[in-house]
Amino acid sequence: MRRTIVAACIVLACVGLSFSPVASAPTALQVMDTGVVAQYPGSLQFTVSAESPHAVTDVRLLYQIDKMNYARVTSESWASFEPATSVSTSWTWDMRQSSLPPGASITYWWKVRDASGDVVETNPETVTFNDDRYRWQSVESDHVTLYWYYGSDAFARELLDVCNQAIDMLAEDVGARVDRRIIVYIYQSAADLRGAMVYPQEWTGGVAFTDYGIVAIGMGPGDMEWGARALRHELSHLVVHTLTFSPYGGLPTWLDEGLSMNSEGEPADTFVSVLRHAVADDMLISLRTLNGPFSSETQKAYLSYAQSHSVVRYLLDTYGPESMYELLMLLTSGETVDSALRQSYGSGLEDIDAAWRIAVKGQMANA
Ligand SMILES: [Zn+2]
Repeated sequence: MRRTIVAACIVLACVGLSFSPVASAPTALQVMDTGVVAQYPGSLQFTVSAESPHAVTDVRLLYQIDKMNYARVTSESWASFEPATSVSTSWTWDMRQSSLPPGASITYWWKVRDASGDVVETNPETVTFNDDRYRWQSVESDHVTLYWYYGSDAFARELLDVCNQAIDMLAEDVGARVDRRIIVYIYQSAADLRGAMVYPQEWTGGVAFTDYGIVAIGMGPGDMEWGARALRHELSHLVVHTLTFSPYGGLPTWLDEGLSMNSEGEPADTFVSVLRHAVADDMLISLRTLNGPFSSETQKAYLSYAQSHSVVRYLLDTYGPESMYELLMLLTSGETVDSALRQSYGSGLEDIDAAWRIAVKGQMANA
């Protein structure tokens, strides 16, 4: 019996010599392995295993999301397990609670503690939450990386040109420069795009994840006219958001949506006709109301967009891009809408609204 144990020990020692440290007991707390399992769009599972001569008592994941923020925010999540000298556990990010867009990057590391008080932290690693249900290809320009999986190279290049032109136009109209790489995902259809989101809204054909510098559009090669508009619209939200990012809250809705509509190009017929009817029937919405969220009623929503576009176009045509840039900077520095308008245009919200109404009635009469 004793001889058998000795023999076994010799065999183990040999194995230990050739394949250390697999067979040896840990002499200190150490993290053996870490990993990430992504299941787009639902979850991101972080795994870890650790060993120690003492029971491992505390395992937590620390992580930072790569997005616009006033300070680098580190979050902490605890993995649950029974304390033991060898532990394999995980923590799962359930996207139904707080979701991440496709292409979002997370830097993470583990902090492990054992019963003796020893603590080990792993080196930070970065994982990108890619929508790997599709085989993405990519094209790049100075400011944009565009990913697509359906359609020709020419289709992707055409869309990349649309992005570049929209960025140039924003620089001209509002002085917005792009200072971080913009990521664009072209899904083949609105249905595919909705499938990429945890809580899709029924109408979603395009979406800007402004804090992340990411835009996603659902369009195929046959949807070029509509899709290019949607792309310009969402890119504008992203670029304007980057320019005006501040702790004082967002822009008035009419200004943000008006700039995005302006980036689209000439307004679609539906918007022109909605605006024309509202002018004729004296049914225009007050500009002050349009500071807030737009109505969810379809007709009112259309009119809100049409009016916002018309007001922004009026301000740009009448006063030029410098005043628009000044307005955006004043709002970014925490000025109220009235005060910012007065400083950049010499009139408050009601006066701007009144002047625009006269101008738009004149345009409609002449058209
Ligand atoms: Zn919009």
